[in-house]
Amino acid sequence: MQYVDCVVIGGGAAGLMCAASAAKRGKSVWVLDHANKVGKKILMSGGGRCNFTNYYIETENFLSTNPHFCISALSRYTQYDFLELVGKYDLAYHEKTLGQLFCDNKAKDILNILLAECDAAGAVIHTQCCINNVTKVNDQKTPARFILQTGLGEITCHSVVVATGGLSIPTMGATGLGYDLAKQFGLRIKPRYASLVPFTFKDTKEIALLSIMQSLAGVSLPVSVSCQQQSFSEGLLFTHKGLSGPAILQISNYWHAGDVVTIDFLPNESLETILQQCQQDNNKSELKNILSRYMPKRFVTVWLDSHPLLLSLSQKAIAQYSKEDIRQLADCFHAWQCVPAGTEGYKTAEVTKGGVDTDDVSSKTFEANHTPGLFFVGEVLDVTGWLGGYNFQWAWASGYCAAQYV
Ligand SMILES: Cc1cc2nc3c(=O)[nH]c(=O)nc-3n(C[C@H](O)[C@H](O)[C@H](O)COP(=O)(O)OP(=O)(O)OC[C@H]3O[C@@H](n4cnc5c(N)ncnc54)[C@H](O)[C@@H]3O)c2cc1C
Repeated sequence: MQYVDCVVIGGGAAGLMCAASAAKRGKSVWVLDHANKVGKKILMSGGGRCNFTNYYIETENFLSTNPHFCISALSRYTQYDFLELVGKYDLAYHEKTLGQLFCDNKAKDILNILLAECDAAGAVIHTQCCINNVTKVNDQKTPARFILQTGLGEITCHSVVVATGGLSIPTMGATGLGYDLAKQFGLRIKPRYASLVPFTFKDTKEIALLSIMQSLAGVSLPVSVSCQQQSFSEGLLFTHKGLSGPAILQISNYWHAGDVVTIDFLPNESLETILQQCQQDNNKSELKNILSRYMPKRFVTVWLDSHPLLLSLSQKAIAQYSKEDIRQLADCFHAWQCVPAGTEGYKTAEVTKGGVDTDDVSSKTFEANHTPGLFFVGEVLDVTGWLGGYNFQWAWASGYCAAQYV
């Protein structure tokens, strides 16, 4: 039997940060991961360049049943603390947009920093190690401890940190072990959803939405998308299954099945003003050509063909448009409404929304309220960030804070 102070289950962003930080405090730490290597999501993140944090981290960028839960950790370990860490290793990085910070080179640079920190502090990482059972022993003679039955045999420890992440991308090693452990120790679980995820559509009798989107697959344009009183102005991408791109992934965090999504395909212009100007100037250009100055031509062509109203207006001279024609046309481009059939699910989702109920965990220590020594960090908790480096910042912050108490 092996004894260590702390076992961290899951060697992802939160687990590695927690292990390195706890080992720095002099704790003996083992990281156990069932995958063949740790940090796989770090490696695939940000298109291979890892959007590792954001200059503008605010509580409003996170969703949780308890929106206050994340405040403490995010203020005790900030984006600037992480920047100080990467600065120690001379990481080359840049701001892409909206405060999002990416590696200049490869996401592997971030993983290497975490591995170097673990190594320097003496945290030991074991991969391909399954965890079969975790029990807590409370007897009178010895301090409370956990016993883990693992692929490495029996391990006894003082504290267990559950850092198993969410359910997205099962092929990268995602499992529900963290939720199972939470349930086993009496913590509640908030409903979980694939999030930061593309929308899917279906053809219906009324409108062949999927077919329209398929014919636009690959086209992208800047939009403003709204749902549930939340809006994002970013890029949209048509796909063979429906809609994707940053704007869609962002709004998916706020979308529930059946919700209407409203899209402004021309967020920085007023179509009404453009068309009224055409009328004043007696501009004889076709509607298609006018619109193609502002939006991708392929989009304009397909969009005008796909709506009976737009089709009839596109065959009419702009000079003859009534006020109502212009208003209806503007609505079709500035406030187009759709109800997605669903999402692409955990296969492609960047995160899991929902998870271990934050009411059952301390926001200061990340310890389960009724099971001293058991900690939950990172995405397994019911805290979900926006797209843009927020989820990694949550992993770093929660992992670091828990490490101060294991
Ligand atoms: C494609 C993609 C791109 C992303 N890009 C970004 C980005 O650029 N910026 C950003 O902020 N966020 C991004 N994210 C989200 C981010 O990766 C996660 O929020 C973050 O990794 C969560 O950290 P974590 O440590 O909680 O979980 P994870 O990083 O998922 O780590 C969990 C670890 O637990 C291990 N594990 C799971 N089950 C078991 C088990 N049963 N036994 C043992 N070990 C287990 C896994 O193998 C894994 O190593 C992206 C996600 C995806 C999928």
